[in-house]
This record gives sequence, structure tokens and C-alpha cells, in this order.
Amino acid sequence: MIYLDYQATTPVAPEVAEAMQPWIEDKFANPHSPSRWGGEAAAAIEVARKQVEQAIGLSGGRLAFTGSATEALNWALKGTMEKAPQSRRRIVTVATEHAAVLDTCEWLEGQNYAVTRLPVNSGGLVDLENVRAALDETVALVAMMLVNNEIGVIQPVAEVASLAHEAGALVLCDAVQGFGRLNIPDGPDLVAVSAHKIHGPKAIGALWMRAGAEPAPFLHGGGQELGMRSGTLSPELCVGFGAAAKLATKQRETDHAHVEALWDAATAELSSGWTVNGSPDQRYKGNLNIRHEPLDAARLISDLRDIAFSLGSACASGSGRPSHVLRALGLSDREARSSIRLGFGRYTTKSELIDAVRRVDGAARAQQGLAA
Ligand code: PLP
Repeated sequence: MIYLDYQATTPVAPEVAEAMQPWIEDKFANPHSPSRWGGEAAAAIEVARKQVEQAIGLSGGRLAFTGSATEALNWALKGTMEKAPQSRRRIVTVATEHAAVLDTCEWLEGQNYAVTRLPVNSGGLVDLENVRAALDETVALVAMMLVNNEIGVIQPVAEVASLAHEAGALVLCDAVQGFGRLNIPDGPDLVAVSAHKIHGPKAIGALWMRAGAEPAPFLHGGGQELGMRSGTLSPELCVGFGAAAKLATKQRETDHAHVEALWDAATAELSSGWTVNGSPDQRYKGNLNIRHEPLDAARLISDLRDIAFSLGSACASGSGRPSHVLRALGLSDREARSSIRLGFGRYTTKSELIDAVRRVDGAARAQQGLAA
């Protein structure tokens, strides 16, 4: 199989698996118990916390581990609104956010909070004038992602954060797809990240919180994470997350150069007729979302079963609806259904990527009755 679905998840790094092993097999003590073994597990978790904090690279805050980035985003949104003053009951977000943000916002609307969803331009980017116009003294929180998971474009988070702060609002950044790959710009008060997008284990994420901007507690119980997110932590998942974060920090420049070279190789192989979805310049290059009308992208995926890639139009729970992100760019349903996403990174080789792109290109042309 050629794995080109790096936005969905990434392969676990060998160094991560090795770091986790003893905590899976031998060192099973509860990290919150006072025994010597419990203390050892708690100390390993604190090392991991530092490693993730260092990879985030922001100062003046604390990090809490969560069960996923989805949980971190739910906590940040619901907990911030719960603590917000009565006069500030509005969230400003963007039409192209991940479902973990958009669906939580929709739930909050049902609790009598207001939500403003900003449009994006044809490149997938917000217009700062629209952000400015949406902000006033009723806004408690601005929620904006750094790198879009479907099309890879990078939002101007630092600029948005300074506008939000001028208006007295807090800023939540979903940094899941940028973490470990790009600088997280200074500005956000809350940052959500996930281990499995940086070659770590699944089912662990984290919420970084600037001092003074902590949301209300989310999970009630033993008070394990800073008294705000109860539940016994998993030493193996925390250690794995820490090891992945440390490796991402160490390999940042090498990974970056590798991804740029892969992008160049992949785009050079595409025949004419393909268009890149999203801004060509302001993007993370490990995400190549392309369309070729009138391709049936779902059929292409089943024609090429030994290549793992995604529909650009990720359908909402099998409903067949085209992607909300591609629609927000102004693409027609037909264009959205002709889109695919190729995602690559640290462990992708140039030769396998070229092989896959040639086959995707050939299968797309064959589908349309064109010579391969
Ligand atoms: N935000 C973005 C941009 C994502 O790509 C994802 C994962 O697909 C998430 C949030 C949710 O992360 P997790 O799988 O840790 O819940």
C-alpha cells in the first residue's frame, strides 16, 4: 500500500513505539497513586508535558492532556462560553473549520449563544476586514484553525488574534494540522493539538491554556489534570505524545525540506487539467488537494485500492454531501466531487509518491476516456 492520507493520521514513529513499550508492558502503575511506581509514571508524564509544551513553543501558559483534540476543542469552546460575562455571548469562527469546532458551535447555539461563521475567499483564506467587522464587545471567543485539514491553507492566526484581543475577545486556535510542522504564532489564548497527526499514538490530545484564560472545568471527578479535566491519565499515551513532539521539534527542518521536495515531485507529475484547491502560496505543502473535472473521485478511490488517499469532498458521515470546505471556496458540487486529497510527509518516499501520482493521473484520464 502507498499511504497518502497524512491528514487523517500519520504512521507511528519507531522512536515513539519504543518509548511507549515499557509503559504498556511492565510499568502499569496508576500515575496518580502515591507508590514509588505511581511516582515514576507521574514523573514520565511531566517530562512528556514539557516536550509537548516545547513543541507548541508558546510561553505563559499550561498544558492539559485530553483524550483527543476533539475533546480539547469541545472543552475550550464550552468552557470559555460558560465563564464568559453575560454581555459576551458570541463566538466568531470560520466556515471551513473542522467539525469538532463547527458542531460544538452549533450545539452552543442551541444553548442560546450566538455564532458568526466567517466566509473565506476562493483560496480558502479569511479576509481580515471581515474579521474586524465581525468583532465587537459581544464576542467572547474567536475560534480559528492554523492549517486546514482538507486543503492545507494557513490562516493568518497572529493577525486575527491581535484584532480579537483589541475587541476584548479570547482566541482559540485548532493547531492540529500545523503542530510540529509550522511555528504556532504567538497570539492564541487556547491551542488544541493531537498526537496522532505528528507520528504519535491515537486517542491523546492536549489543550494549551494561557494563564488567566483557562476555560471552566470540563470533566468532573478526581481532578487529575489541573483540577479541570478528571480521569486517570495513560502514561504510555502521554510518553508517546512527548516522544513524538520531541522528534517533531528535532526533525522540523528536515521534515519541512522533505515535504517541499515531495510537493514539487508530485505536482510535476500531474498532467494538465488538474487544479489545486486552495491558495497556492499560503499553504502547508504536505496536503495536495486537487480536482479534475468531471472526475468521479469516489470511483477513483475504489479503482486504486492499494493507494490510501481521501476524497477532497469528505462526505459528512456517508450522507454523500460534498465537503463544506470546498463549497466554502465557491466550488460547485460537481467540482467538489471531482476533488481528491493526497497527504504525505516524513515517511513518504519520492519514488512511491511519483508512482502513486502517475497512477492517479492515468486512472483519472482513463475514467474520462482520455489517453493515459
Ligand atoms: N482539528 C483538525 C484540523 C483535525 O484535522 C482533526 C483530526 O482530523 C481534529 C481537529 C480532531 O483531532 P482528534 O482526532 O485528535 O480528535
